[in-house]
Amino acid sequence: MQDLELLAKLHVRDIISLAAVLKGEKPAASLVVPLEAKDWFERFCEERGLVRFEERPSDAYQAWFFVCYDEEIAALKRRMEEFKLSLATVKGKLATFSGGKAYGEVGKALTVVEGAMYGYPECCVESYAARGPASRARAYEEFLERGRDQAIPIEFWAVAHAPCSSDCRETVELGKRYLDAVSELSESLREHVESRLLLPRFYQTGGGRFIEIEPLDYDRVRGELAVSREEFERDARARLPEPVEVLLCEVPRPYVLVTAREEPPYKVAFPNPDMIGTMWLAYTPGYGAYMVNARTGQVALYITSDKWIPKVGEEWRSVSNFRVYKAVKSGAV
Ligand SMILES: [Zn+2]
Repeated sequence: MQDLELLAKLHVRDIISLAAVLKGEKPAASLVVPLEAKDWFERFCEERGLVRFEERPSDAYQAWFFVCYDEEIAALKRRMEEFKLSLATVKGKLATFSGGKAYGEVGKALTVVEGAMYGYPECCVESYAARGPASRARAYEEFLERGRDQAIPIEFWAVAHAPCSSDCRETVELGKRYLDAVSELSESLREHVESRLLLPRFYQTGGGRFIEIEPLDYDRVRGELAVSREEFERDARARLPEPVEVLLCEVPRPYVLVTAREEPPYKVAFPNPDMIGTMWLAYTPGYGAYMVNARTGQVALYITSDKWIPKVGEEWRSVSNFRVYKAVKSGAV
């Protein structure tokens, strides 16, 4: 079926979310749709009776859609967005009268409602509401502490929410149900989805930003590369403190693309469009990364915590940032 082939234009995480909404396993999802798939996506929703609207204007790379199976949920989402906007505009005034507590409490309550709207587990929503977006790193810190960072159950990558812990059962159960929803659409789509979920990921865990990486054999492709291993390693070690890990990989289009105002030699937007292709990746676990296009020599990423944390806030510092994680199918551990 042609639609199912076109579905593969979405990132796997969004394919899974969309399948879960279609099958009634998830009330709503926020999806990142590549611009070239936007017209198809709108038609797809139309034909299947899914309610959708753009959450914010498209940028140079992608459109941002809210999709759900029910007009009432769509109406709630719209009202919540309006409410959040007016709340943000009076934030300063509220702080004058009540020290900002009201703003914080309402913000938490909105997070809880929104979590329910997306069908996230209550334990994870509570944890996110209490600790904020940077809390996503916590589950990964636990995976590292327990030596399970190279064998993460794929269900953790099948869901969109920040799990409350590395052994959140609700998350694993939800992931299973979502993957079953993909199977109901098509077994071959499930195979595609699983093969992508099983790719290693390079993570900046706090913000949930990651790229998938397909490791390459240097000896097989070295003739095609503009940058040799020796050259790259020398460069990387001049920019990052030890221990530096180096690998050659192919990076497919990430689920989201961002840009930022850069201050050379740093390039901190992650993931950005220059990261797609054959990449040399070097990283100091927990601290920073340096990435160069192996075919052109163009710098794709250069970020260190010393540069990045002062801009975004101390809560984003985590040993789990800038590491490669691997997934396994359930039952494989
Ligand atoms: Zn949980």
